[in-house]
Amino acid sequence: MEKIDIRSLQLEQLKEYITSLGAKPFVAGQVYTWLHQKTVDSFDEMTNISKSLREKLAGECVISTVSIRKKQVSTDGTIKYLYQLADGNCVETVLMRYEHGNSICVSCQVGCRMGCTFCASTQHGKVRDLTAGEILAQLYRTEKDIGERVSNIVMMGIGEPLDNFDNSIAFIRIISSPEGKNISQRNISLSTCGIVPKIYELAQLKLGITLSISLHATTTAKRKVTMPVTNAYSVEELIKACRDYTKITGRRISFEYTMIRGVNDSDEDAQQLADLLRGMISHVNLIPLNPVDGSPYTQSDDRAIRTFQKKLTNLHVNATIRRRLGQDISAACGQLRNENR
Ligand code: SAH
Repeated sequence: MEKIDIRSLQLEQLKEYITSLGAKPFVAGQVYTWLHQKTVDSFDEMTNISKSLREKLAGECVISTVSIRKKQVSTDGTIKYLYQLADGNCVETVLMRYEHGNSICVSCQVGCRMGCTFCASTQHGKVRDLTAGEILAQLYRTEKDIGERVSNIVMMGIGEPLDNFDNSIAFIRIISSPEGKNISQRNISLSTCGIVPKIYELAQLKLGITLSISLHATTTAKRKVTMPVTNAYSVEELIKACRDYTKITGRRISFEYTMIRGVNDSDEDAQQLADLLRGMISHVNLIPLNPVDGSPYTQSDDRAIRTFQKKLTNLHVNATIRRRLGQDISAACGQLRNENR
């Protein structure tokens, strides 16, 4: 019989399971606390749980964990982990230190099948989805390693969260639960390349998270060149979904726009971007393209980026330029990989 992935269960599911074993519902709360607050990796450590139940759980369940295969520390303090999963696959996780606290960038898939031409994470396709427990374990392991709390989460590592919808949502619900790490949904960002039907599905859940859209181009024709997902959903459909999302949830959307020299950084691009976003509560994050081996693109120069930002501001679009962290250890946006190299 396949073992139960106990770290991926939400509290209600855990209650159902634990009571089915004949234990009281409050015991499920205790086990959940061990798994998600004290973040232990074995049943032996759950000292207030009866020995017989612990043995039963150990026989029927696994607790997802990750182990550090490699760790690199940047001159700016950013840490990149190569985490190994139980089956030997690896993903990368990045810890960023800000004045307001520690922020973690988690991966949600081994590889990615979205095929964006400027991104390292997708170069070898997708191997598999991560479970909620494996996404959680990245944060738990990182907190133990640094001996500090993580207060912000960006789902911007390897993979496409909306292509692993249920596990990504379970992750958000568990990490924000008061009986778990209790990280406010306000401090969680989920980034997507724009899988339109899933944006509507997400809107219905009315989570408090921030939705980030990786836009990077302002017309369907142009976006198709760098982001194949546009073959399935046009820019118009994507923007309509974003407008609907803000109406349904009341939440501001953040748009990521990677600046690629000669590709999307012209005056006309800025104008088209402003036209697209007109009237929507939004924020634009300009990201200077980070170098990726095997990619034909180069980053826009600083002046072009500032001019672009200024043009947006003049057109009443709220835009900031993202700070580049961890570039010396290839831990910046689009540089994460699932290989050990
Ligand atoms: N699949 C999701 C989550 C990944 S987030 C998404 O597409 O949003 C990673 C962010 O980095 C995305 O906004 C992505 O478009 C951006 N990115 C990818 N390659 C990059 C590069 N070379 N330089 C800068 N940003 C890049």
